[in-house]
Amino acid sequence: CGIVGYVGDRSAQGVVIDGLRRLEYRGYDSAGIALIADRRLAVDKRAGKLANLEKAISDTPLPAATTGIGHTRWATHGGPTDDNAHPHVGRTARVAVVHNGIIENFAELRASLESEGHEFASQTDTEVAAHLLEREVVGGADLTVAMQKVCSILEGAFTFVAIDAEDPSRVVAARRNSPLVVGLGEGESFLGSDVAAFIEHTREALELDQDQVVTISREGATVTNFDGTPAEGRRFHVDWDLAA
Ligand code: GLU
Repeated sequence: CGIVGYVGDRSAQGVVIDGLRRLEYRGYDSAGIALIADRRLAVDKRAGKLANLEKAISDTPLPAATTGIGHTRWATHGGPTDDNAHPHVGRTARVAVVHNGIIENFAELRASLESEGHEFASQTDTEVAAHLLEREVVGGADLTVAMQKVCSILEGAFTFVAIDAEDPSRVVAARRNSPLVVGLGEGESFLGSDVAAFIEHTREALELDQDQVVTISREGATVTNFDGTPAEGRRFHVDWDLAA
């Protein structure tokens, strides 16, 4: 239900957990985080309140990292368990993805991946996206192209935010009928389901149209359509304040 992404110079864990806290008002049943450290993913995800996740990562700290994603889940497919919490990872745990929304055609996609030998760790619709994205990336596509291709075959409503452990310089997101905004800082960039996720860090924002992919890096954001053609988001300045 809430989504956060970050790439910059700060602790991604700090930025992501703060962002998730700012999005708690949206409601959720589980929370999770994935970071890239030494070209590997570090993932923790827990059913229940954000405090459960925070306790888990204080008991077993995650490695220092400056690229990460986070999620608060409102379960639609699969109960609120640790395994069903996001992020989800692909077969070799190279790509991690968080998702808001519903993938309507996940059952066919899952059956076809299972017939190719993919094993699934959750009951979610989301996990097919993790496997599909990772399969593209392992096949040589960069994560932006992988996202364009995968979104083109999915039906339903979705916001995705994904990372590839082999490329900590970027976080890639997409949306169809589900909210996503970009925050543009100095040498750092943010993604959120709404500006509350990053408003304490920057007020320069970019809104995407439907069926677009955005790639964020320390340098800013690049937007494309699902067919790969260049696109432009709508820049805006957040000049209002959040109620405490
Ligand atoms: N459909 C996904 C799930 O059940 C995402 C739910 C959400 O929007 O949080 O895991």
